[in-house]
Amino acid sequence: MKSPIFPKYPPALDDTQTSYLLTNIKDWSIAHGLAVRPQSAFISATVDPSGVLATTAPVTIFPSLFPRSCFEQGRSIQTAYNRLYSAIARDEDWLGSIVQELVGIDDFITKLWEVHMTVKQEGYTQSLTLGLFRSDYMVHVEELENSRNVGLKQVEFNTIASSFGGLSSKVSTLHRYLLRTGAYPANKDGSSFTESSIPQSQAIASLTRGLVAAHTAYGPSKSDKNLCIIFLVQEPERNVFDQRHLEYELLEAHGVRAFRLPFARVLEETHLNDDKTLLYTSPHASDIQWEVTTVYLRAGYSPDDYLSGTEWDARLHLERSRAIKCPSILTHLAGCKKVQQVLATPHSPHLERFALKDDIPRLLDTFAPIYPLDKSQAGLEARSLALNTERAQRLVLKPQREGGGNNVYRKAIPEFLKGIPESHWPAHILMEMIEPPPQDNIIIRNGELQRGGVICELGVYGVCLWESSTDEEPKGRVLENWEAGYLLRTKGDQSGEGGVAAGFGAVDSCCLV
Ligand code: ADP
Ligand code: MG
Ligand code: MG
Repeated sequence: MKSPIFPKYPPALDDTQTSYLLTNIKDWSIAHGLAVRPQSAFISATVDPSGVLATTAPVTIFPSLFPRSCFEQGRSIQTAYNRLYSAIARDEDWLGSIVQELVGIDDFITKLWEVHMTVKQEGYTQSLTLGLFRSDYMVHVEELENSRNVGLKQVEFNTIASSFGGLSSKVSTLHRYLLRTGAYPANKDGSSFTESSIPQSQAIASLTRGLVAAHTAYGPSKSDKNLCIIFLVQEPERNVFDQRHLEYELLEAHGVRAFRLPFARVLEETHLNDDKTLLYTSPHASDIQWEVTTVYLRAGYSPDDYLSGTEWDARLHLERSRAIKCPSILTHLAGCKKVQQVLATPHSPHLERFALKDDIPRLLDTFAPIYPLDKSQAGLEARSLALNTERAQRLVLKPQREGGGNNVYRKAIPEFLKGIPESHWPAHILMEMIEPPPQDNIIIRNGELQRGGVICELGVYGVCLWESSTDEEPKGRVLENWEAGYLLRTKGDQSGEGGVAAGFGAVDSCCLV
């Protein structure tokens, strides 16, 4: 008999220990900004008319178990992933051919491409792009006759609004604090985990250094104004503290001023000089103009962000500006699920086009099987899998969307497909479900404890700054590339989705085993 993948964990808690932990978690979280704004369903406007209340972000009581080798694998491959996706973002012809497959069946992707084409015809004024990426994985176990392989499989690669860097740094500090104060009881056999088992996520400092790298590479002001960074945000935003942690670090550690600009106000609060320099005026001090070096998008990734009609004009306005975009439209498109599928389809020639030879085997190792739903041979085979109720049990269907809440899981797939026109099937990709090893934990959400089986998803952040292709450098040039900390998100094993913002998951940190 093979040994279990994980030791028995977490230690049992009696009522007194649970309430002691809960008190500590609640206080520490608010004191350190491991917090979110409450859901409006919980707080009526009469209770909190000025929106001052904050609440503990959903967190796990214990750091969840994670194989050390998998953690190291995810971290060490991040710079290869950064290279890969920045190379894709620099290859407009190739991306154009992918987008072509979605034209007419995915209006959002089509519209993004049109914005890019408009700016291209005018001539781009900025050759630098910043990527603050996050590559997401789950642990995959392959049982062999006398042994087993334990490795990471990629869930997806995010090129826009990769969130939770702020909270991820805080939650690993929280779990290390709880351990240091002795709030965690030992296991029955007397064993316990130590601080060295809980890696500290450095995402706040590291992602912020990425923004600073872009800000610096932008060069001197073209307009004799002070330079700033813009965080383009949704309004309202419950996950505001996650973003604020980066903003505060920018000012405190680097002296760089950042402003939060709601997507709907772009055209009111910014304008372009004749040379496309982006100027910003904050409503709180309307006599001062700032020159924007970098626009960091924490909005604009979902069609829901473009409802009033002005947002497409706003996206075009930002794209044509001289500011460095994090991300550019091409980089945003490089992150769509179709690209991930095309790379992962067996015998795909595409990886060789973008990745270094040495990186390819390591990248391939992390790919889970993903199929197209078009009329290619692979697509026709995938269609029959998707329509087979039993086979669909092990599959997830994804449209080209971000932010959680968009996928169709398992047995719901056949019915979903039959309910939409067949011509729209190719707008989705079909992926094998990754089934990580079972473990237990306790999630605190809105003050309630949820105990039981959980599933963990590791996110590894990456920073990449690059220059687009020029006559001298037809493939462009990567200027900065580093791994930038980690996130663990944990959800109950009964829920399909794991997005913390979408309301199903919790932020967590790794207890390496
Ligand atoms: P999004 O861009 O909306 O976050 P994802 O591809 O990350 O889309 O899917 C959302 C969630 O669905 C993931 O966080 C994960 O919990 C679950 N999921 C997606 N793909 C898989 C998969 N292949 N195996 C297991 N779970 C998956
Ligand atoms: Mg995503
Ligand atoms: Mg995701």
